[in-house]
Amino acid sequence: MPRELVTLACTECKRRNYTTTKNKRLTPDRMEIKKYCRAEKKHTVHKETR
Ligand SMILES: [Zn+2]
Repeated sequence: MPRELVTLACTECKRRNYTTTKNKRLTPDRMEIKKYCRAEKKHTVHKETR
């Protein structure tokens, strides 16, 4: 199955904090995950970028 490398960026400070892989067939839309932002020291929503 094709897995694509994606970058997750914090929606508040725009820093790119995480990279992950996803299955494009199962997740065709942009991912949105709550993750810890080290710059802000709190959990924020991180969105897929390319
Ligand atoms: Zn942030």
